[in-house]
Amino acid sequence: MLNLHRPNLVKIKNILLRQQKQVAEQLKSIEKEDPVTASNLVPEASESGTESWLAEAHGKFTTLKKDLISLSGGITKSLAKLKRGTYGKCEKCGKEIEAARLEAMPTANFCLACSKKSPK
Ligand SMILES: [Zn+2]
Repeated sequence: MLNLHRPNLVKIKNILLRQQKQVAEQLKSIEKEDPVTASNLVPEASESGTESWLAEAHGKFTTLKKDLISLSGGITKSLAKLKRGTYGKCEKCGKEIEAARLEAMPTANFCLACSKKSPK
């Protein structure tokens, strides 16, 4: 059966690989920019309060890092699905995810209808 709405898997794979590289680079730069991991400074519950900016900055970088790691996990998962040939199927209803949606968000696990019903 010819499916005109089939997503362009080669294109999507390239997007995913590019994203994966970007995420890896961002993670590396976060390690460098985070004052804690960059200089091994340990934020302490200090008396002076001078370390509180450090803890705050570290907190921001930690949140950012978590987001990137979860994005990276999604990319890896999508790439594995591409390999298995199960890519593009909604994890909830099993229908094909809209091609345009996949091109805009290659790590999407659900079709538009399902993601509207329950975000994430
Ligand atoms: Zn669905």
